[in-house]
Amino acid sequence: MTVPFLDLKAQYESIGNEITDAIQQVMDRTAFAGGPFVEQFEKEFADFCQCRHAIGVGSGTEALWLTLLALGIGQNDEVITVPNTFIATAEAISFCNATPVLADVDKKTYTMDPELFEAAITPRTKAVIPVHLFGQMADMDPIMDIAKAHGLFVIEDACQAQGAKYKGKLAGSVGDAGCFSFYPGKNLGACGEAGAVTTNNPKLADKIRILRDHGQSKKYHHRMIGWNARMDGIQGAILSVKLKHLTEWNNERRTNAKIYNELMGGISDVILPKEAAYNRHVYHIYGIRVQNRDTLMSALAEKDVYCGIHYPVPIHLTEAYQSLGYGEGDFPVAEKYAKELLSLPMFPELKREQLEKVTYEISQLV
Ligand SMILES: *Cc1c(COP(=O)(O)O)cnc(C)c1O
Repeated sequence: MTVPFLDLKAQYESIGNEITDAIQQVMDRTAFAGGPFVEQFEKEFADFCQCRHAIGVGSGTEALWLTLLALGIGQNDEVITVPNTFIATAEAISFCNATPVLADVDKKTYTMDPELFEAAITPRTKAVIPVHLFGQMADMDPIMDIAKAHGLFVIEDACQAQGAKYKGKLAGSVGDAGCFSFYPGKNLGACGEAGAVTTNNPKLADKIRILRDHGQSKKYHHRMIGWNARMDGIQGAILSVKLKHLTEWNNERRTNAKIYNELMGGISDVILPKEAAYNRHVYHIYGIRVQNRDTLMSALAEKDVYCGIHYPVPIHLTEAYQSLGYGEGDFPVAEKYAKELLSLPMFPELKREQLEKVTYEISQLV
């Protein structure tokens, strides 16, 4: 029995007819770039996130970048985020000509440590981007309080957290804006590239809508210099279909995580993921920590169990970000976990036998 890291085909096969119908409708109306299907999805996604506005864009990276631009972040500004994220979080800051400043993460949840965030604030800080890593929201109450006290914008990187909750509030509804990716492997994934921004601020929503469409609100009347960051009509239609299944899929991920926890609870060399009591974790990634991570990962692959690593190199140690001037030892928690974290197979359609096989092989190998 093979256990893939991710099985996009299993999901597609379960809703193939609905997807084919959705694509056919877009074809019939030739609504390919932006348009009615994107507008419909934006309404549905805003409702889902309990936000007033959602703006569809081309990717999660664009969602982050346009949000920062719309908030006026630019040269000489600093934006605080974490070292253990996908590089897009930092790239979006750099593409505004601002500087990413990093703050280490909490040892249990792997999300931003509010105290270290506060310690990283300087007179140039304009915003903070907590990352809801692996599908678990960062500790938003203290982050919001600190940001408010210092007059900073809060942008949630919710790219891995569609449907996650913090004290009952949905990801993307807590900060000034929430940025989502619908990359195919995410909990809500398009059949191609897509992303969205959520916000309760109508002015911010308007500005992002204009920026994503060449700075125009009326065709060929350009109010500002923007970009082409529209969502495809086909992706909008497909995402509307998939959104209806998201809660059920997230519940299945949570069930799979619970089974992993039960089956692996007795293995003393494995540190399981911790869901904070106030959170609803949606397990985009189910990451365990082990000392012999790299050998375990290759040994598991020999047994047809395929894992991933998120992420092997923290932002400050990437070649791309040497210019920030950080070095080894600056963010000890993120650095230690980059060597220990192993992402096990996780998707809604995983079968009990597959979960059992993964945990059995791990128990034999650690
Ligand atoms: C996926 C992801 C992004 C980028 O999203 P894309 O749609 O791939 O551009 C940004 N931040 C995090 C934390 C992500 O996981």
